[in-house]
Amino acid sequence: MSACPVAATAATDTATIEAPADAPLPVLGHDVRVPLVTGGEVPYAALDYAASAPALRRVWDDVAAYAPYYGSVHRGAGYLSQLSTDLFESSRADVAAFLGCRPTDQVVFTRSTTDSLNLLAAVVPAGTRVFVFETEHHASLLPWERREDVDVTYLDAPRTPGQAVRTLEEALAAREPYGPALVCVTGASNVTGELWPVRELAAAAHAHGARIVLDAAQLAPHHPVDVAELDVDWVAFSGHKLYAPFGAGVLAGRADWLQAGEPYLAGGGASRKVARRDGGGVDVEWHDTAARHEAGSPNVIGVYAIAAACKALTEAGFERLVAREQRLVETVRAGLAEVPGVKVLSLFGDDAPRVGVISFVVEGWNSSHFAAALSAEYGIGVRDGLFCAHPLVRTLLGDDSREAGECGAPDGAAGEGPQLNALRVSFGAG
Ligand code: PLP
Repeated sequence: MSACPVAATAATDTATIEAPADAPLPVLGHDVRVPLVTGGEVPYAALDYAASAPALRRVWDDVAAYAPYYGSVHRGAGYLSQLSTDLFESSRADVAAFLGCRPTDQVVFTRSTTDSLNLLAAVVPAGTRVFVFETEHHASLLPWERREDVDVTYLDAPRTPGQAVRTLEEALAAREPYGPALVCVTGASNVTGELWPVRELAAAAHAHGARIVLDAAQLAPHHPVDVAELDVDWVAFSGHKLYAPFGAGVLAGRADWLQAGEPYLAGGGASRKVARRDGGGVDVEWHDTAARHEAGSPNVIGVYAIAAACKALTEAGFERLVAREQRLVETVRAGLAEVPGVKVLSLFGDDAPRVGVISFVVEGWNSSHFAAALSAEYGIGVRDGLFCAHPLVRTLLGDDSREAGECGAPDGAAGEGPQLNALRVSFGAG
């Protein structure tokens, strides 16, 4: 395998990117060493936090301390069941506090951001008009299409935050009057790391009588998310991007649509009362709490871990975390700027505020080959492909066609034709 032109820079920067012993958020995995194709081994440089961040040591310690005590949640009279139920419910309160929820909001535990947004898509009232930018991650772009009784408007990629607000305002105004309406927007892009003007978009949505759901999968690990202050109606995020393990996520926000909709899953825990019906069958009374959408035995470890991560981030202090991460963003961007042939992808321009997510292409290189070389020759783990945001990455690569393409399509040999995919480095303050 040939040597990568930017790898030397990246490898040098690894020392800065790796968390020092006094990092504000110590994470696991800094002592992992990986073999190189050229022989020997090096410390693994995990630069794919946007896909899944390493777990915080604090999260792991909290889960380990709880592990001997775990029992079934909401289902047992025994001490350990009671303890687990208490921890599960106090985790809900911890997440609500982390998100600055209003007193009437509900926090529903799901499997992930994707699951949360699919849940919301399942409960929006029939006839809802949904407004979504075509630049969204597929988790927030795709669930609405599955409801045949909702009307989806796709908004073009804006080139500035102000244009995003104007585009939304115009689309909302053009389609008035309507009944229920919902805007779906990401807080921080998983491709460019750029911050979206959430507060302004929420104000525009509400001015037109629409509601708004915030995809905070990439925002919550990097910035404080305050539901009440941003004035968003719902927020969704995943534990595994917030320094907790896989398999648990959150949908938090207004209770009315959640409680008017059919339970996401039918089963034990979601039902308050099930009675035999005369003539056969059963009548079900569903819960009107978050439990309505949490049928089955819940992922108590995953939920407890999310709450531990929320507390760790809050205690470390976002001000400190943001400052440290911004220094890393500047270091990486400055390093990339020095490498001939590297083009950083951006929707809102170089000066846009952003989190530690940076995508780029390298002239003459297929991104998949490049990512493979970074891993094999330097032990640097990055992501390549279209990052489950195909329309956005295609726009950024200058591909205006509306045809589908494969995620991470490795076609297009080095130096031939247009770039079909990109590279992404992502990190946090941990
Ligand atoms: N939204 C954004 C902005 C993301 O970056 C991701 C994952 O990359 C998701 C949603 C989906 O998250 P999950 O895979 O945890 O469901």
